[in-house]
Amino acid sequence: MSDYLFPPFPVAAVPVRGEAALFPLRRIFCVGRNYEAHAKEMGVAVDREAPFYFMKDASAYVSSGATIPYPPGTTNFHYEMELVVAIGQGGFRIPQAAALNHVYGYACGMDMTRRDLQIQARDKQRPWDLGKNFENAAVLSAIVPPSQCGHPAAGKIELSVNGTVKQSSDLSLLIHSVPVLIAHLSNFYHLQAGDLIYTGTPEGVGPVLAGDQISGSIEGIGSIALTLGPAE
Ligand code: MN
Repeated sequence: MSDYLFPPFPVAAVPVRGEAALFPLRRIFCVGRNYEAHAKEMGVAVDREAPFYFMKDASAYVSSGATIPYPPGTTNFHYEMELVVAIGQGGFRIPQAAALNHVYGYACGMDMTRRDLQIQARDKQRPWDLGKNFENAAVLSAIVPPSQCGHPAAGKIELSVNGTVKQSSDLSLLIHSVPVLIAHLSNFYHLQAGDLIYTGTPEGVGPVLAGDQISGSIEGIGSIALTLGPAE
């Protein structure tokens, strides 16, 4: 049996409410512009025909309650509050009608974004990685199984900074619903247990600064918190 040249990095893993075992993370898919009012505030048109995606490495995961440093390379660091779907059963070309059978659970997520770098990339028609996929950029609460929360198609989604509400919307305003996303994404990837889908953020995104306390909640799912420390 061959050895490794150096220790392989540990698997990122997420707590599950009411369960001792952790949910091991595989891939993080993120949906862009999935609420009309957020697309509008970003100055772009919505594509109702089909969702689009970008990805974050599982190593970008950070748990709710963490304090993270203000990230390098940006002067416009933004929060994006999102419903996250955790895949528990893999599948390929999943029919919409069967899509929810593949869900392990739901969580609150924050898709943290270096907005200045994302917009520069967007405007130059370059990939979004520098703006979206970086250390501590995928904040996640504990995962809640449908036995505790059902499959939420509606419910309040909110985010506050230092106690002031910045985002307040409803899951019913998702352009592409959870079953649609799972069915569509599974045409392009063999979805696997451990995959996450960040389903997109509503309007009201904005910058945060060192010292800020960010908190969010989704009706029926729970809450999420993040503290921003100084730059390294
Ligand atoms: Mn997002």
